[in-house]
Amino acid sequence: MDFEVVIGLEVHAQLLTRTKIFCSCATTFGNEPNANTCPVCTGLPGALPVLNRQVVEYAIKAGLATNCRIAEKSVFARKNYFYPDLPKGYQISQYDLPICEAGFLDIMVDGEQKRIGITRIHMEEDAGKLVHPDDYSGVSYVDYNRACVPLLEIVSEPDMRSSDEAVAYLKGMRDILMYLEICDGNMEEGSFRCDANVSIRPFGQEEFGIRAELKNMNSFRNVQRAIEYEIGRQRDILEQGGQVVQETRLWDADKSISVSMRGKEEAHDYRYFPDPDLLPVQVDQLWIAAVRETLPELPQDKRARFMAEYEIPPHDAEVLTGSRLLADYFEATVAKVGNAKMVSNWMLSELLRYLNDDKRTIESCPVSPDGLASLLKLIEAGTISGKIAKKVFSTMYAGKNNDAAGIVKAQGLVQIDDSEALGEIIKQVLAAHPEEVEKLQQGKAKIFGFLVGQVMRQTRGKANPGLVNDLLGQELAAKTAKNQPPSVSGS
Ligand code: ADP
Ligand code: MG
Ligand code: ZN
Repeated sequence: MDFEVVIGLEVHAQLLTRTKIFCSCATTFGNEPNANTCPVCTGLPGALPVLNRQVVEYAIKAGLATNCRIAEKSVFARKNYFYPDLPKGYQISQYDLPICEAGFLDIMVDGEQKRIGITRIHMEEDAGKLVHPDDYSGVSYVDYNRACVPLLEIVSEPDMRSSDEAVAYLKGMRDILMYLEICDGNMEEGSFRCDANVSIRPFGQEEFGIRAELKNMNSFRNVQRAIEYEIGRQRDILEQGGQVVQETRLWDADKSISVSMRGKEEAHDYRYFPDPDLLPVQVDQLWIAAVRETLPELPQDKRARFMAEYEIPPHDAEVLTGSRLLADYFEATVAKVGNAKMVSNWMLSELLRYLNDDKRTIESCPVSPDGLASLLKLIEAGTISGKIAKKVFSTMYAGKNNDAAGIVKAQGLVQIDDSEALGEIIKQVLAAHPEEVEKLQQGKAKIFGFLVGQVMRQTRGKANPGLVNDLLGQELAAKTAKNQPPSVSGS
């Protein structure tokens, strides 16, 4: 039987505020356990939460950037459950009146655009963390540094129909939050995490199938693998006439399987009710308008503009707009050189390869946009070839040296454009390779490239390659003419 896949995603994004959502403790990651705590975030009796205004602002930003309606009034609610990392015995979240609703995000999969609905975005506090020492000493510790750190929960409609679409949505969402500079997007450290709800149904059936919720996937690759595994698992069950049970499953990346964690809880299990310690959140139109003013150009807009303005292909535009800083680097370089296609090629082939090998991001790139521009100008002016430029780039990168012209001069890399000097070298090369020349004349065209290579080698790569090609062609033509047997006509 053929099944259709249905996926809805819940994203939790940790916000980059300096302090927590309901107290003034720091949000810094990696401090001594429980260093960032106070009576509020450890849930001591009588302590009262005070809402961090910046969290609301960030939520509005995220909502506007994902085409949501911003509610003028939203309400914090208590979600009650017991767990040792939750000191109050409830999580402060939003329930029936969230701050953002009814948005969407457009994704591209296989060259086709698709709109994914966003049901809601709400603000909530994170929980602490249990620490289980490796020595199985029989104790567990609890660290409340993360308790009360602000989160946005972004819930999608069940609009995705494949793991590719799910990953595209997640990447798009992460890009937006990072462009807004409200989340660092770090999946490994858990500051951008997702739960995937997956079900399948026979094609043509309108009713959704029963879903499982997948947790614990800390990379895009794991999200994809976990969803694919889940689709296979559900298909097996249905094909054998069984029934999927609604449950939460944990992805085990090492074993590449998911295991059941708990049966599905329902909203009423949590006994949600409005938190009496917090007033409803009021957001007026003036505030919304002011926040809208601060929105940067968003990834999709930037991508479209790069394609139109610089005439670069979709894939290149996508890579270059992968982060705001990378896009800025590109534009700063183009402003100096002009040839956008050349800058794009150099960034995609050289610069990003060096950064990847080095596990660096563009922020700490040793070559500045000015440095790269000055190098590319040397190519455009014919002072050096593209090949030599790659060597110079390597020197610049390794030595944090942005003086391309200085390196070219110091290393004597200026291109040889002198036809006479090159002609001499070509004659020498031909004289040194009589057999190859003969094979070439017998039609082995590939030998031509070999001879060009020999000339380049003689000049340590400095010969102007175009000129070498021309001169070598002429020289060979002359040689061939000379070796031609005399014409018989008329004799
Ligand atoms: P809960 O809060 O209990 O997880 P929600 O109704 O908020 O439940 O839904 C959570 C997510 O599950 C949403 O992203 C929604 O789109 C998705 N979802 C709901 N029903 C299905 C289904 N049958 N198959 C796949 N995803 C679903
Ligand atoms: Mg859920
Ligand atoms: Zn605190």
